[in-house]
Amino acid sequence: MKLNRLLILPMLTAMGCQPAQQRVYHSYDEYPVVKGDWEEMDYSPRATRFSLWAPTAKEVCLKLYAEGQGGEPLQTLSMRPGEDGLWTVTADGDQNGRFYAFNVKVDSTWMGDTPGLWAKAVGVNGDRAAVLDMDATDPEGWDKDVRPQLEDFANIVLYEMHHRDFSIHPSSGVEHRGKFLALTEEGTSTPGGQATGIDHLKELGVTHVHLLPSFDFSSVDETRPDQPQYNWGYDPKNYNVPEGSYSTDAYTPATRIRQFKQMVMALHRAGIRVVMDVVYNHTAVTDGGNFQLTVPGYFYRHTQDGSLANASGCGNETASERAMMRRFMVQSVKYWVEEYHVDGFRFDLMGIHDMATMRAIRAALDEIDPTIYIYGEGWAAGSPQLPADSLAMKNNVGQMPGIAAFSDEFRDSLRGPFGNDALGAFLAGRKGHETGIRFGIAGGVEHPQVGRDGKNVMPKFWANQPTQFISYVSCHDDLCLADRLKITLPGLPADHLKALQKLAETAVLTSQGVPFIFAGDEVMRDKCGVHNSYNSPDEVNAIDWTLKETNRDLFDYVSGLIAMRKAHPAFRLGDARLIRQHLEFLPVEGDNVVAFRLNGQPGGDSWKDITVVLNARDTSVTIKLPEGEWRTVCRDGRIDCRNGLGVTKGNCIQVAARSALIVHR
Ligand code: CA
Repeated sequence: MKLNRLLILPMLTAMGCQPAQQRVYHSYDEYPVVKGDWEEMDYSPRATRFSLWAPTAKEVCLKLYAEGQGGEPLQTLSMRPGEDGLWTVTADGDQNGRFYAFNVKVDSTWMGDTPGLWAKAVGVNGDRAAVLDMDATDPEGWDKDVRPQLEDFANIVLYEMHHRDFSIHPSSGVEHRGKFLALTEEGTSTPGGQATGIDHLKELGVTHVHLLPSFDFSSVDETRPDQPQYNWGYDPKNYNVPEGSYSTDAYTPATRIRQFKQMVMALHRAGIRVVMDVVYNHTAVTDGGNFQLTVPGYFYRHTQDGSLANASGCGNETASERAMMRRFMVQSVKYWVEEYHVDGFRFDLMGIHDMATMRAIRAALDEIDPTIYIYGEGWAAGSPQLPADSLAMKNNVGQMPGIAAFSDEFRDSLRGPFGNDALGAFLAGRKGHETGIRFGIAGGVEHPQVGRDGKNVMPKFWANQPTQFISYVSCHDDLCLADRLKITLPGLPADHLKALQKLAETAVLTSQGVPFIFAGDEVMRDKCGVHNSYNSPDEVNAIDWTLKETNRDLFDYVSGLIAMRKAHPAFRLGDARLIRQHLEFLPVEGDNVVAFRLNGQPGGDSWKDITVVLNARDTSVTIKLPEGEWRTVCRDGRIDCRNGLGVTKGNCIQVAARSALIVHR
């Protein structure tokens, strides 16, 4: 993008602070790019080297402080410019434990203190960066931490959770409620003895925990741990440091880092991989934020009239297509993998990023470990300032191998549209959503039997492979499933609502896409009907774990579905060609029923021929099957793969209202 005005900037020599000559940048593309390492703080006990990429600065100074907030600088050092836009200075002596901030002068304005673009350790509220010996933050046993095995993306079962939702309720029985450390505590339970915390995750059987924003965000005041404060955290401040309010001490820079690592290590020991929700598409604030304080304008997109673009709906939109923003994102995800052993990333509003950047991220992570999973929201909140065919939107996922996107089609076909909470869909017994359900069952890949009936809305096939397709019915956004069912089916008795919750999870967990569960849906958590609970109090967002006591049958059902999926490769073929070969939709008279068969021992499954029926009607339905002896493993809201639930002979089978049936022979 061209700038609307020319920036007249000084070109400084590496040897001194005197402007050598004037240099004109006609566009952001002309800004110099860092050639070597992009490290802002390189610590050793003898000296610490500081650097900052600030190509448009006239002067840059580094201030060293004793505290993370307040007080006067102990020392202020002038930094020297280099040819690639990097300003550097070395502070002699052991600086470990000190805090620092940069201040950048652009034109005639000192922009104000910033911890920089690349702080790896910060003080309270992330206002100042900290000098830290990162090796000293490793918990004991960290060198032996390994990723749990993952042979194929098709084997993934995702569980999306917020730290505070997950453990803040007293019924969690957790000591470090709402903290990273909550996920390190074993043996926790509800008053009635139901496993909670990490034991709950193990019992459920998920393979990946997807953590809502856990990098440093700005909406929770870390100086007030005594106050209950809640935010999802989609307001990034320091991208490369864990959030302080999830640590037990936000003032001591090493604490949040060590506790994040302890959490990852505990999850890995439990056989669970860790996905981070990353929000590179916007920053919490623009002016006053670290990007703008360092290189004004560069990291954001602008509209034709020069104002900030806002496809995030949050006030700005970052510019992934620019060399140093792209590098920032690539280096940031690599850093979380290498320093924190993170196993996957969920990109918030991924559709704002350009495809080239997402491919560069995939390539960089492949070099480290190709089993690291990447998925994102294949949309934006507004129209990004780049051509649609260059963006990492859902419809372009086919051009981004190894990157997945959420299927709003499957979600909406199950529960109803985003824009109208009161409107239900398949689960609520509304006609016309069967094609969307079949689309979701097939994992979004092209399938000859999806979309040929002429009476349903037909989604576009956008996934080349089913592992690029996230199957879900609810997530942290919008109403959770229990609330949605309650609102779309007013007056329906609780046991019928629970039956529909089971039916919904059956669709998600028998889909060929990658299943995704919103934390607490497995025990029928609710959010008091709040649609956008991003800053709602604990009374709305906390999961009351006594629900696991009340709804143990639902928990057993969902964990049973996960166990079935793990044991039977037919449900996770992971390959579009195999899906077209083995997945057959069965004819059904009327609406609100979808039936399918996985035939021919798909994926080498021990079950040679499987039939699944999803009946969302309020009456039972009879389905025709090939003549034979069928063993039932799931019916009437119960699932038992090991012992089965009886045998049916003949060529038809009855499926109760609002329930799923799974049989095999
Ligand atoms: Ca914070």
